[in-house]
Amino acid sequence: MNLIPYINPLSDESLKIVSQNSNLNETFEYNNGLVDTINRSSNQNLESSHVPISIGDLAIKRINWYIERKNNKNYKLSDYSYLFNKDILKFDVIAFHMLAQAVATKFNISSRETKLFIESEGSLILDRLNRLLTNERQDMVDSILKQLSITQGSRWTILKDIIDNRNLSLTNLCINNGEIILSKEDFLNAYNDKFHNRRPESMYDMLVGENLKEQIVSNMIMLNTENYIKMIKEKSSFVNIHSNIEKLGSDVEKTISEEMTKYSTFYANANNFKIGKLIREAFPPCIYNTVNGVSSGGRNDAIVLLLTSFVSYARLYPGIFASEGGVKVSDIDKNLVITENEILPLIYEAADNCTPPLFEDQPQEKINIISKLGFGMHDSPDLNHEGETKWYTPMSCEKIKMHLPQLCKADKDCKKINNPLSCYGIKKNRLIREGKIKEEEKKN
Ligand code: SF4
Repeated sequence: MNLIPYINPLSDESLKIVSQNSNLNETFEYNNGLVDTINRSSNQNLESSHVPISIGDLAIKRINWYIERKNNKNYKLSDYSYLFNKDILKFDVIAFHMLAQAVATKFNISSRETKLFIESEGSLILDRLNRLLTNERQDMVDSILKQLSITQGSRWTILKDIIDNRNLSLTNLCINNGEIILSKEDFLNAYNDKFHNRRPESMYDMLVGENLKEQIVSNMIMLNTENYIKMIKEKSSFVNIHSNIEKLGSDVEKTISEEMTKYSTFYANANNFKIGKLIREAFPPCIYNTVNGVSSGGRNDAIVLLLTSFVSYARLYPGIFASEGGVKVSDIDKNLVITENEILPLIYEAADNCTPPLFEDQPQEKINIISKLGFGMHDSPDLNHEGETKWYTPMSCEKIKMHLPQLCKADKDCKKINNPLSCYGIKKNRLIREGKIKEEEKKN
C-alpha cells in the first residue's frame, strides 16, 4: 500500500483517492468499510461513543482527538487507535478534505477553529510518523520531502514561510552556501574533515537528524493546508455550498466550543482560580487606580491594554496562566451577555473617569478595546468577528511597573506575584474566607 496519503493528505495520490471515492451526499451515512476498519484496529475502545460510523463523524473525531490529546491529562490513545491504523487511509483523506471545505466556508482564516484544524493536522502527522517502523518512517519522510521539492541543493528560502510563521527557527537549520543540508550523505560530504575528536555521524544526528526533517514535513503540510483553505475560501463565493459541508462546519463549531469550554472550566478551576462575578473590593491597587480614572499620561494604555485584559480574564477565565491558552471569550460567555453587561460597562465607566474622559477626545479607542477582546476592529463585540484579533492576555506587573509606574502602589498581597490576576485571586479568596462576599456574588 502506498502510505503517502496517510501522512500527506494533499499529495497527488490523496487527491486521486478523493476524486475516486468521495461522495458528499454520503457524508453522514453509515460507512461499512470505515466501521470494519475501526473494529479491526488493535487496542481500539469499541464502545459506540468512540466509534465514528460515517466520514462526517470521523472528521469530527479528528478534532476531538487533537483537543483531548493536547488538554486531557487522562487522554486514552485506545479511544482513537483507529487514527493510527494505516488501513484508515482512504477514509481519513476524504475526512480531511471535507473538514477543509467545512472550515474554509464557515470560519475566517485567522479564526481559532481554522488554526486548530491546521494544528491538528501537524500533530497527527508527527504522531503517525512516530508510530512507523524506523526504516518505513525515514523512507516516508524522504519521499514526502521530495514531493515537496525539498531536495539536495534546495535553497533555505524554500522554508521561508514556515520560518516567518515561527514554526521553525533559522538556527535549527544546517545551511551551506545558502543550501539546506538534510541528508547524512550531504552532511558528511560538506563537513567530514571539519570535526576532530568527534564522529561526523554523531554530529549529523545532533545538528540535523530525522527529527528536523519530520518537523519540516509537518510544518510544510500545515502551510499547504492553510493555503488550500484560502483557495477553497476564494472559490466558495462562486459556488453553492453542499448542505452536508454546512452541517459539518456547524458540527465543528459546536465540538470545538464544547471541548474548549470543558477545558477552560477545568483550567479556570485549577489552582483555586474560580470563574465568578467581578469583586471590586478585590481589585489590586493598579486596577483600583485605573477604574477610578487616569489622567492623560498613560490613560489610553491603562484602559485599553491593562484594564480591558484584566477585567475580561478576571471575570471569564482567571486561570489563563495555568493553561495553554487557545480560549476565546465566547467559549465561556456564549451569547456575550457577560461581556456586554458586566465587562464593557466597567471599562467604559473607567474611561469616563479619566481626565479628560477617554472617548470624548479619542472615540476610536472603543474599537481598540473591542479588538483586545478578540473581536477585530469593530465598535461592538460580534460573534461573527471573533478570532479576527487575539484576546489580549493581562499585562504582567513588570510591564505595568515599566510602562504605567504611577498606577502600581503595591500592597501586602503584591508580594511574590507577577501578575495582577494573581493578586486579585489572593484578595478574593481572603474575602470569601472572611465571609465578606455574598453567596450570589460567587456564582456566575
Ligand atoms: S505589584 Fe502588580 S498587582 Fe500589585 S499594584 Fe503593582 S502592578 Fe498591580
